[in-house]
Formats: sequence, C-alpha cells, structure tokens
Amino acid sequence: MAAPMVETADLVVAGGGIVGCAVVHHLAQLLPPQTRIVLLDRGPIAGATSGSCMGHLMVTPDTPQEYAFTATSLALWRELQQQEGGFDYQPTGALYLADAPEDVELLPVLQRQFRDNGDRADILDPAQLRELEPGLAPDLPGALFYPGDGVVLPMAACASMLRHAQRTNPNVQVRPDCAVTGFATDGDRLTGVRTAQGPIATGSVVNTAGVWAPELTAMLRQPPLPIHPRAGNLVVTGHHSTPIKTQLLEVSYLRFAHGAAQVDPTRTTGDPGGHAVNMQPQTHGGCLIGSTRQFRGLDRTLNRDLVLRSLARACRYAPGLRHAPIVRTWVGLRPYSVDKHPLIGPWPPVRGLWIAAGHEGLGISLAPVTGRLIAQQIAGVPTAVDATPYLPARFLR
Ligand SMILES: Cc1cc2nc3c(=O)[nH]c(=O)nc-3n(C[C@H](O)[C@H](O)[C@H](O)COP(=O)(O)OP(=O)(O)OC[C@H]3O[C@@H](n4cnc5c(N)ncnc54)[C@H](O)[C@@H]3O)c2cc1C
Repeated sequence: MAAPMVETADLVVAGGGIVGCAVVHHLAQLLPPQTRIVLLDRGPIAGATSGSCMGHLMVTPDTPQEYAFTATSLALWRELQQQEGGFDYQPTGALYLADAPEDVELLPVLQRQFRDNGDRADILDPAQLRELEPGLAPDLPGALFYPGDGVVLPMAACASMLRHAQRTNPNVQVRPDCAVTGFATDGDRLTGVRTAQGPIATGSVVNTAGVWAPELTAMLRQPPLPIHPRAGNLVVTGHHSTPIKTQLLEVSYLRFAHGAAQVDPTRTTGDPGGHAVNMQPQTHGGCLIGSTRQFRGLDRTLNRDLVLRSLARACRYAPGLRHAPIVRTWVGLRPYSVDKHPLIGPWPPVRGLWIAAGHEGLGISLAPVTGRLIAQQIAGVPTAVDATPYLPARFLR
C-alpha cells in the first residue's frame, strides 16, 4: 500500500497575529508566486494580542536607529493603505500632552529628538491645543503635536495583509485552529512541523507566536527565549459629546512605556504595575483608553485598580469622558523582550528556524518593517534597514 502523502510547504509561519500576517504579506511580495507558504494559528487569526490591543502607529524618535525602524514601518503602513486599505487607517498624528511643569520641560526635548532625525513636531500653547482638540481641559499647559503618527484597526489590518498576500501569491494558505504541536528535525536542520491537523514537511519555519514564541522554541529543546507577557488593561467608551480626533498620550508615557522595566519580568505576582494614559479615537465616535503595564504571567483578569487610575487620568485630560458610558474592558498581553528590542532573524542553532517576536507595545507599529526585514533575510537580499540590533542570536552569546 502506498504511504499517505505528507503535505509539503516551502515556508510555514507559526502564529497568525499581526506579525505573522505581515511576515506572510512580505514573503508573498518578495518570493516567486509558486512559493508555498502556510500560515498556522492555533486559534482564530488575530485572536490573541493583536486582537486585544490599541492601534496606534507610532514613530519613536529616541535614537536614530529606532526612528529609522518605526518611520520605515509607518511608510509601509501607508503603502498597504494604498495597496489594499480596509483597516480604518487614520493619519491622526499624535498629541503628547503635558500636565505637570516637569512634563512641559519634556516637550522641547521630544521636539528636538524629532528634529534631530530630520522630522518635525510642533509645540502648541493652550489656545492652539484647544483649537485642535476642543474637548480637552482648558487648563492644560501645552502639548507637542507630531503629524506623522496614525491609527489602524489591527484585526482588520491582519485581514487586509492576508488578502493582499493571497492575491499576490495564490499558494498562500491560511489555517486557523491548527496548532503547532512539535517539529521534525534531521540533526540541526528543521525538516517539518507537526500540527493539530497533521504533519507538514518544510525546511523553513518562522516563529511568530508572540508571547508563546518561547513555547515553540522549547519544543525544539532550545534555551528559553527572553520574551515575557506584560499585561495591559483597556477600556472603550461609547459615543461622547466631544470626540477626540487625534491619538493622545501623556508625554510621560514615553518614559513609562519605553524605559526599562523596573521589576523582574519573570515574576507572576507582586508587580504593582503602572499606567500612563493613552487615548485613541474610534471611528464609531468613542474613545479607546489605555494603557497599563504589569508582569503577571498569562493572567488576563482585569486589574480594576489600574483601570480606574487610567480612567482618572483620561478624565483629567478630556473631562467629557466622565459622561461617556464604558462599553467594554479587556486585557491583552504584550510580548516583552528583556532588552526591549524585538527578535527578528534566524535562530542559528536550528537551521531553517526563524523568529519574529517580542515587540512589546509596538508590535502593530512595527509589523510591516518586521515582515519585510525577515522576508528579505529569508530571500537572501540586502535588507532595507540594519538587521543587526534585532538578530535573535544576540541572546546566544
Ligand atoms: C493593551 C495593549 C495595547 C497595545 N497598543 C499598541 C499600540 O497602540 N500600537 C502598537 O504598535 N502596539 C500595541 N500593542 C502591542 C501589540 O499589540 C503587540 O506587540 C502585537 O499585537 C504582537 O503581535 P504578535 O503577532 O507578535 O502576537 P499575537 O497577536 O499574540 O500573535 C501570536 C499568535 O500565535 C498563536 N500561537 C501561539 N501558540 C501557537 C501554536 N502552538 N501554534 C500555532 N499558533 C500559535 C496565537 O494564537 C496568536 O494568534 C499593544 C498591546 C497591548 C496588550
């Protein structure tokens, strides 16, 4: 009797969040259309962190490297909007709001960072701020407006990326509800994946499993990847009387979100967590309010105390929110990498294994540049941005 045919693929992408979808999107654009690419997710596409987050597309100007990385990604987001659209892209810009006097001092510092990278951002006095956002508190001392940021609906963006990928390459297959359960190897070389729906023979796998990326590499008995879940609580309001038009964030958010974590990220109890408010306009006229940070493993129960503190800050900036009903609250898990850079590139101990994970609170912003970077590495063509700071092999030294 003939042996049953085993499915084969040129590439398997394991994890269908925004990063996996962006990887598939860029692989489809860069590799020949006969390349067989299979995207697997153990649940629905965009059913984990990428479906439980905000959609701020953010340029971070802290260093020239970070500026180049985030700004390149935002340019790719605009390209996707032209190519495909369908994900509620809004070029809102971002307002960094000051409250305390020490916040006001941060505004020119941040403005200089944008200027040092050849970009522009404008300091607004209270009158200019009210003109731009009439719903904000009249006593706010000022803000910095950066026009380059935007907002998207991440779940819809995953669908747009996959739609475009499948039109470009009809050999792209998307398989939700199909968990990776193991791998096949020959010496140090990957030869296949085992899945809930049967084995797939392949020489290349991209691990895009977000906070679960370490679980996949553990199946290959590799040293633990330094990626840890960092919980964030979110609230969405119904319509309110003075809807905001801009992505709003406290200027102190930058220090809070992009500074080093003050606690051991492997802790699952005892981290009190913190918050800096971040408010995002929704096309239905409501407001999405974040954003807290707390290490507590994979626990996704709401932290009411942190949520209430975030809401109090949000109402300080936009008092009209006090009257807005809360429609929904939820918790998402950011994939925090211990050196605060995502892991993007090959995993040298296992030939054929690639990693694209660990984007913490910037995974939506950085998904397109990540997809393009790893697709260029896999295709063996020069990379458009410097790959070195993101190579996962830095954790093997
Ligand atoms: C509260 C909050 C607010 C945020 N706001 C923003 C923001 O405004 N802007 C921004 O840029 N970023 C933001 N982020 C960060 C962003 O959401 C994440 O960085 C990003 O979604 C991570 O995407 P991912 O594809 O790596 O992971 P995920 O979306 O989690 O995808 C990984 C996928 O792998 C799958 N998987 C796991 N194990 C297996 C297996 N064994 N087999 C097959 N599949 C498997 C999972 O089911 C999941 O779908 C926020 C995050 C949170 C939590």
